[in-house]
Amino acid sequence: MLYLGCHLSIAKGYYKAVQEAVSIGANTFQFFTRNPRGGNVRALDEKDIAKAAALMEEKGFGPLLAHAPYTMNLCSSKEDVRSFALGVLKEDVERMKHLPDARFLFHPGSHVGQGAEQGIQYIVDALNQTITEDGGPMILLEGMSGKGSEIGRSFEELAQIIQGVNHSRNLGICIDTCHLHSAGYDIVNDLDGVLNEIEEKIGKGKIGGVHVNDNMNEFACHKDRHAKIGEGTIGLDAICRVVTHEKLKGLPFNLETPNELQGYAAEITMIREKTGEIL
Ligand code: FE
Ligand code: FE
Ligand code: ZN
Repeated sequence: MLYLGCHLSIAKGYYKAVQEAVSIGANTFQFFTRNPRGGNVRALDEKDIAKAAALMEEKGFGPLLAHAPYTMNLCSSKEDVRSFALGVLKEDVERMKHLPDARFLFHPGSHVGQGAEQGIQYIVDALNQTITEDGGPMILLEGMSGKGSEIGRSFEELAQIIQGVNHSRNLGICIDTCHLHSAGYDIVNDLDGVLNEIEEKIGKGKIGGVHVNDNMNEFACHKDRHAKIGEGTIGLDAICRVVTHEKLKGLPFNLETPNELQGYAAEITMIREKTGEIL
């Protein structure tokens, strides 16, 4: 079973989002845990969540991806930005326990000049204050393209964070095809090699989700501009090899391409037809 979906809004609730996903042939989706640019969080509606979970079950959904807001920078040089981020992290991870099967993912952050070592240390400290025992919700670090002072541009950096965390059983990574390609990992010509390198450096079974995006820029450019599937430097064939790869079986694959709902529907149909993974 291929769990394929896209980023959707939960502004009208989880049930509405599941219905929307079903309407476009998706069987997973991603949502922002709160306004991507702000900090406010909506109270959880237990009834809405129960209805959403029932529909997900009925339609055979895979896990969802819950994306942290972009303002959550755990490794900022500013103390107030870090403590705000830690508050968001703790609150969102706690909320995961009340949502239908969702994996929380976040951008490791930007160190803005203090250096990667210091940045990584801040992220490790925040995670150690949040994950106090094994067995909580799955938390994923997103691998980044490496623009500016972004942490998480290499498997080494992601591994360093995970290895610094005391209870790391449910701590893993989310790979983003555009980011991998921009960071200089050749998923077009050597997907096996890239996935093997992840296993060697980060460990087996550590990938918990995949973002499916084409790349508007060239390989290894360290820029982060997502293109529609088939309209970038990765291409539809390479994208289809990712979503059907043996090592990535059962993971939630979500599109974050520049699209409205109809555009997402068309991409989901295109990938399903090309791979034969029809619902
Ligand atoms: Fe992201
Ligand atoms: Fe992404
Ligand atoms: Zn991106």
